[in-house]
Amino acid sequence: MKKLALHWKILLGMALGVVFALIMTNFSWGPDVIADWVKPFGTIFINSLKLIAIPLIFAALIKGISDLKDISSLSKMGIRTILTYIVTTVLAVSIGLAVVSIVKPGGSINEDTRNELVEAYGGDAESKRLDAEKQKDSGPLQALIDLVPSNIVSAASSNSNMLQVIFFSVFFGIGLILIPEEKSKTVKDFFDGFNEVILKMVDLIMLAAPYGVFALLAALVVEAPSADLFAALGMYAFCVVLGLALMIGVYVALVKVFTKKSPSFFLNGIAPAQLLAFSTSSSAATLPVTMERVTEHLGVEEEVSSFVLPIGATINMDGTSLYQAVAAVFIAQAFGIDLSFGTQLGIIATATLASIGSAAVPGAGMVMLVGVLGYAGIPEAGLALIFAVDRPLDMCRTVVNVTGDATVSMLVAKSQGKLGEPHVKDWDDTYKK
Ligand code: ASP
Repeated sequence: MKKLALHWKILLGMALGVVFALIMTNFSWGPDVIADWVKPFGTIFINSLKLIAIPLIFAALIKGISDLKDISSLSKMGIRTILTYIVTTVLAVSIGLAVVSIVKPGGSINEDTRNELVEAYGGDAESKRLDAEKQKDSGPLQALIDLVPSNIVSAASSNSNMLQVIFFSVFFGIGLILIPEEKSKTVKDFFDGFNEVILKMVDLIMLAAPYGVFALLAALVVEAPSADLFAALGMYAFCVVLGLALMIGVYVALVKVFTKKSPSFFLNGIAPAQLLAFSTSSSAATLPVTMERVTEHLGVEEEVSSFVLPIGATINMDGTSLYQAVAAVFIAQAFGIDLSFGTQLGIIATATLASIGSAAVPGAGMVMLVGVLGYAGIPEAGLALIFAVDRPLDMCRTVVNVTGDATVSMLVAKSQGKLGEPHVKDWDDTYKK
């Protein structure tokens, strides 16, 4: 058991969690036992990952930027990062649109099923819609205003303000590059050491990952909706998963073509982060592990990974944008609405923006979907249609979100000459120390 690689341990934890929950659902008291005695360990595990996210962004970004030495390499890297993120997102939405247009999953939803779904999930969907409504009440430059915190302590006090923390850290890093070496040295050394400590904490948390995912999956299984409704949405879910799988294929191909690294090297390196993304449905919670894997196991130098990944976790959500495109078209099909080519192009633009605006937390993509539906004139009541299967699809799209960030960090690192060999040859070594 000790020798088993980490991703196998996590997979085993997930499988055992599902089996355990299936057994427990046979007893009337089973679900309560899971809710009271098992789920809390999953919550503790996610909390400990989130706990580390803000200090990690802080330390890693400041260290990364101060290592860059000059502003021009920072801006070069910044532009490359943002452009690559936009290109991958547009690609993802286009794949989603193509799959859903070819398979046409909405055609098989008849009126009875539609009413049944709206009845079962209408209330929950309505609360998502209201969340989205709240976000809409703002001017066109609101996103820019939100980027700049008025107080760093309050910005750092919530994980939903990650972009503000990134802004402060980049700003601080720039200040650090611009002051004389003798003054900046102590600060740099401090953040260097601080960063090491945080990364070690990530290693320690990962020791608990197999147990954490056991608890998370067991809790998910007992909370899952009924199988009938699930079946009605099977084709839709299939389209999302197929699109996501194609997107993973695109990443592997991009990595192979641009960095010459093999698919198995890339996928083995990133696997534990993917499994965590699947279990937690949150790219923000997964970020510490993504950073560790990309830096130690894929050979991306820290000054690149510490810059590219936190930004990616907040703005690059290829899986989310792909899902939004599929969901919007599926709902339109289910309501018998024909979407013109122009509207489909608009969906590409709105889904790209909506995914950038989605927070890296469970269910955020569905809230932002309301914007895409509103743009395309698709009834928002359609949210109720897809509610039943949203959580499992959220788990899958988060895997793609995280894999997309890792891919872009490798591409940017290669283009900057900062892609080296992995630090850890036996890729499970860190966790055995
Ligand atoms: N859960 C996703 C993430 O954290 C966002 C979403 O699509 O809901 O990456």
